[in-house]
Amino acid sequence: MNKLYGKTILITGATKGIGRSCALAYAEKGANLILTARSSDLLDSLKEELIRKYGIKVYTLVMDVSVSKDVEEKISSLPESFKKIDILINNAGLALGLDKVYLASPKDIDTVVDTNVKGMLYVTSAVVPLMLKHKSGHIVNLGSIAGDAAYAGGAIYCATKAAVKTFSDGLRIDLVDTNIKVTNIKPGLVETEFSKVRFNGDLEKASNAYKGINPLTPDDVADVIIYATGLPENVQLTEIAMTPNHQADGRTVHRK
Ligand code: NAP
Repeated sequence: MNKLYGKTILITGATKGIGRSCALAYAEKGANLILTARSSDLLDSLKEELIRKYGIKVYTLVMDVSVSKDVEEKISSLPESFKKIDILINNAGLALGLDKVYLASPKDIDTVVDTNVKGMLYVTSAVVPLMLKHKSGHIVNLGSIAGDAAYAGGAIYCATKAAVKTFSDGLRIDLVDTNIKVTNIKPGLVETEFSKVRFNGDLEKASNAYKGINPLTPDDVADVIIYATGLPENVQLTEIAMTPNHQADGRTVHRK
């Protein structure tokens, strides 16, 4: 039997892209899921699909990670049977625009920082005490190669992903005397709705982000997360960077 069978996985931003692929990949392994996002209809249809296909237990939380009270209330409202969380995937995140940093609106700055940084902190702070109770767990944070080096027009997003790296490192230090592991996953270009959100629904601009390359798929990222969280007790992957074949780093892409 695989190591993930019967485990409980909490995924933020589970309705689309990487989060949704993770939900499907863990369900296939027989894990039970706590799926969270803001769109209740998408959560409901994913829950129905996963139960029908895999016969697992699924609990959904309509939760905005950027609102601390919402996170506290929703996590503490989990039924006892879902409170032993084995793996937390801090995945919810976004970028808004690709303009010079001083042209970004305060509202967009708040949304990106509050979701990518504060959201991860709120959810982690709510879940770690539950993991400490049962003395094990694994926290996977979705960073990005954008956190390694800035690219033009990405200053705010890149800064938030650099924060994901530093937070993951600090959390790993704070948990070093426990059985809880921390992994920072850093993908390059992954074709999801990420660019559609970034360009405010402009599909032409969004598709240009992936033009002339063969980008990663959200399933590729989920495969790596499944691998990282299925390793023996003594093995902790601290950080994993992954890019499509023709992307060298956040700034260097060969497009055909
Ligand atoms: P996506 O397809 O746009 O999915 C984002 C998910 O996050 C959705 O399920 C969305 O659901 C949820 N979400 C957004 N804001 C939220 C909030 N305030 N509270 C709760 N949920 C929220 O994006 P993706 O590409 O899968 O990105 C997932 C993660 O990977 C992000 O952290 C991103 O920075 C990172 N990443 C992406 C790429 C890439 O190229 N795509 C590369 C490196 C890293 P609702 O709208 O229903 O809330």
